[in-house]
Amino acid sequence: MVRLVLVLGDQLTPDIAALRAADKAHDMVVMAEVMGEGTSVPHHPQKIALILSAMRKFAVWLREKGWQVAYSRLDDPENSQSIQGEILRRASETGAVEVLATKPGEWRLVAALQDIPLPVRVLEDDRFLCSEAEFAAWAGGRKQLRMEWFYRDMRRKTGLLMEGDQPAGGQWNFDHDNRKPAKADLLRPRPSDFATDAIVEEVLDLVEKRFDRFGRLRPFRWATDRAGALAALAEFVADRLPRFGEEQDAMLEGEPFLSHALLSPYLNLGLLSPMEVCRAVEDAWKAGRVPLAAAEGFIRQIIGWREYVRGIWGLRGPDYLQGNALGHDRKLPPVYWGGETRMACMKAAVGQTRDLAYAHHIQRLMVTGNFALLVGVDPAEVHEWYLSVYIDAFEWVEAPNTLGMSQFADGGLLGSKPYVSSGAYIDRMSDHCGACHYRVKEKTGERACPFNLLYWHFLDRHRDRFRPNPRMAQMYRVWDNMAADHRARVLAGAGAVLARLETGEVV
Ligand code: FAD
Ligand code: SF4
Repeated sequence: MVRLVLVLGDQLTPDIAALRAADKAHDMVVMAEVMGEGTSVPHHPQKIALILSAMRKFAVWLREKGWQVAYSRLDDPENSQSIQGEILRRASETGAVEVLATKPGEWRLVAALQDIPLPVRVLEDDRFLCSEAEFAAWAGGRKQLRMEWFYRDMRRKTGLLMEGDQPAGGQWNFDHDNRKPAKADLLRPRPSDFATDAIVEEVLDLVEKRFDRFGRLRPFRWATDRAGALAALAEFVADRLPRFGEEQDAMLEGEPFLSHALLSPYLNLGLLSPMEVCRAVEDAWKAGRVPLAAAEGFIRQIIGWREYVRGIWGLRGPDYLQGNALGHDRKLPPVYWGGETRMACMKAAVGQTRDLAYAHHIQRLMVTGNFALLVGVDPAEVHEWYLSVYIDAFEWVEAPNTLGMSQFADGGLLGSKPYVSSGAYIDRMSDHCGACHYRVKEKTGERACPFNLLYWHFLDRHRDRFRPNPRMAQMYRVWDNMAADHRARVLAGAGAVLARLETGEVV
């Protein structure tokens, strides 16, 4: 009796749970390109092109390995354009009696599988180093889910950068050596662009025809198969990892990638595994090719943050997506979709997002995320934006980062204080302010940096919630010690910025 084996676009891993549980001789793999997924949010065209290209190549690989694959192309006339519809179509063609699936990384799809009128066996996605049950056990009974403690447990569990039961170098965390301001005059090797081939070109033409939305499709620079992803990993470790730590938080005009890995899309699609990436980094440190601080900083992002946010997503379930602890309700300003702005930092972050479907962590957190939080945008709108525009955006990783870390919509589960800052932080970490219309040193007046005005407005309007927080007490003392007329001018300036956003004027 035939079973259908569902492989989704971010499940392109040869030994993914559903394939492991299946029988090549009898079962049929189902892969489907459907408009329902392409339009669930307005995904960036490069993201759609990456997923479809990688799916097509994975299907070729599966067939070479002897699997039967029922592959629905987006432009198949028979395509029902939904995952459920395609499973039912394949079931009626084959007489299949059961579906094997690996748990999707979006609650919407988890629910959709439950609605299919066939027995569906959903297996745990065990590509993560920490299972959902393990994370729940770790979280159980803790008042605060601090990533740092979770990370140390993951170091012990994986043995990465460990010397016996002690951390290599005698410290768990080398952040004080990392996260330096950007140096504009350094020569940095740029990550290679991957050439397109016939499969990718065909997909690019299709995406161009079918998906007209925010985001530039060409040039398309991404690897679309495991061989390419491995090459991207090797190049990162050789060229950029040595400076990864120190440049982690830096921002520079015209340097969108700095020393970042650009590996998240490959990890999230399943073309690379978290452990192999960490081992490559650890090996480079052991061979003396990179400093411990860089290797530790990188490994913390993977076995710490990446696993931790996935744990939160599983633990909190679909309700997490509705969080709005601060009661924010403004619309997402048009600048996020490429509208005009005079803010140099926002222009750079959104511009490269449009062109590359990529911005690094600090741009996402301290520029676009910070601005949305200070303005008070409805977190659901912010979530939709981040889920749409980045090449690596999948709900399990995007939602905790956006709603939790960036927008404080979960009320502080992920971070004990909100990630907000005035323009001073952006000025310290970037070269944006020098050429900006606004003046980062000005605290009031027409040309004062909007971050400076909105930062105090945010603290002032959320005083009841944040004043008792010991980590924020110092900032409230600074605010309270300012002259009353100065405070009034700051709040009036912030009000004027918000009013301009409301009426659609350029900010
Ligand atoms: P690097 O900076 O080189 O980091 C190395 C790797 O560490 C990344 O490839 C990624 O796998 C992992 N990593 C680093 N930080 C995080 C983190 N906070 N959470 C999970 N993994 C992390 N990451 C996504 O993969 N998908 C998303 O949709 C996503 N949305 C985000 C939204 C917001 C508001 C914020 C603040 C962060 C988001 N991140 C997301 C985390 C992070 O910004 C990206 O993982 C990173 O920018 C990817 O680029 P890179 O590979 O060059 O990363
Ligand atoms: Fe951004 Fe303010 Fe600096 Fe302009 S002055 S680049 S708005 S931080």
